[in-house]
Amino acid sequence: MNECSDKINNIVILGGGLAGLSASYHCGAPVYEAADHYGGIAASDRVDGFLFDRGIHVLQTQNHKLVDLLTELGVDFAIRERHAHIFAHNRYTAFPFQINSTGLPLAKRFHCVWHYLQRDKNPPPTNYHEWMYKTIGKGFADTFLIPYSIKFWGVHPREMTYEWTGNKVPKSSTRQVLRGAVFSRNTKVGSNAIFRYPNGQHGYGALAKVLSDQVRDRLYLDYRASQIDVAEQKIIFENGKEVSYRVLLNTIPLPELARITRGMPAEITGAISKLRTNSILVVNLGINRPNLTDKHWIHFPEHDISFFRISFPHNFSPDMAPPGTSSVSAEVSYSLDNPPDREAITERVIADLKRTRVLKADDKIIARSTYDIRYGYCIYDEHRRASLPLIKDWLKSVNIVPGGRYGLWTYFWSDEAIMSGKKAANQAQKHLAKLQT
Ligand SMILES: Cc1cc2nc3c(=O)[nH]c(=O)nc-3n(C[C@H](O)[C@H](O)[C@H](O)COP(=O)(O)OP(=O)(O)OC[C@H]3O[C@@H](n4cnc5c(N)ncnc54)[C@H](O)[C@@H]3O)c2cc1C
Repeated sequence: MNECSDKINNIVILGGGLAGLSASYHCGAPVYEAADHYGGIAASDRVDGFLFDRGIHVLQTQNHKLVDLLTELGVDFAIRERHAHIFAHNRYTAFPFQINSTGLPLAKRFHCVWHYLQRDKNPPPTNYHEWMYKTIGKGFADTFLIPYSIKFWGVHPREMTYEWTGNKVPKSSTRQVLRGAVFSRNTKVGSNAIFRYPNGQHGYGALAKVLSDQVRDRLYLDYRASQIDVAEQKIIFENGKEVSYRVLLNTIPLPELARITRGMPAEITGAISKLRTNSILVVNLGINRPNLTDKHWIHFPEHDISFFRISFPHNFSPDMAPPGTSSVSAEVSYSLDNPPDREAITERVIADLKRTRVLKADDKIIARSTYDIRYGYCIYDEHRRASLPLIKDWLKSVNIVPGGRYGLWTYFWSDEAIMSGKKAANQAQKHLAKLQT
């Protein structure tokens, strides 16, 4: 493990997830990470011979330069064709639902398609709920996307804005919707119709591994920042060490930054305290049966099933599970006011997997673990929209450059988090140059 020295660093990076590692790769600054492992949410964990990611992770990017860079650094990507489904009305329908509705009862299908054809009559949207009505129509929205969103985000889509939907919610044409209501073609649209996943012994964690290999000499693990003094430009860590900086590149979640920063005005701490996120408990199970399914993942919009999504790591790469076994990773959304009992949730997940016919009654669970994602998906709402510019302005005034999914409070996929680290590194270098003139 690296030991930090007392010298003043020009740029210091906080957080060794993909954004922080990428920032260090691009600007050469040291990275301080709280955990004893790098990679943050994009790391993978080994459990009794199985490998599990921290919730489903696949690379769904059109950024070929980034794919080339990661490949050059050592990631061996396999290309996979998505097999994703939705379980509702006690049956499986191919994803995305609006172009694969043949599985729905006839009256429901007619209702969904009729409203889809009427969707242009809806007024211009002012929130995510209205955006759904305008984009896929009331029928598909009420049947799938609204219940799924409430379960996933933990808030009603009426409370959310929709500027994040761009590449995150699959789009479809009228022809695909009509055809999908008559023939079950399992048409593939959306940015993850074809995706990449690393071969080898590191799971999705391979992305963080190759970046960390490049910055090994300046990566400090087990360095949890416990205090930041913006006047002194100094970080104190839980292990008693201190570092000084001229520019701090922050990728740790904004609420954590607010909690440990001395000298943050009440207006800014107040704004950060109102930023919202969902939280996710991931329940990982190793099963004693091969070929549990050929699907990659399944969405569950109905509220009486505990998880909103399950994925099957053994179908991403054969290295994820020992020969003759399969694995399931179930994601359960929860609110911070009501933290889950891990044991009880695990038992409920197992019961629901049997109820939805994913597991058979005599399947044996030979490995199990849970992973708690306190900051899951950042919620886009009017407060976020109004507050982020104020927060960023103040950070800049005290020489802090934000980056990454939670430092910028965004819906970044991993490729976007890596690019955000690069962008923040560039901004930090420019900021430093200005300070020095
Ligand atoms: C459930 C889930 C599923 C996802 N699925 C996909 C997917 O399929 N495809 C995809 O491309 N992306 C996916 N993502 C997004 C992807 O994981 C993120 O965009 C990316 O990992 C974010 O990296 P980051 O470095 O910005 O943040 P993080 O990974 O959160 O890194 C921040 C780091 O800061 C550290 N830290 C926190 N506090 C301190 C402190 N006080 N001192 C020092 N260090 C600290 C943390 O330990 C962490 O390592 C998913 C995300 C989630 C939550």
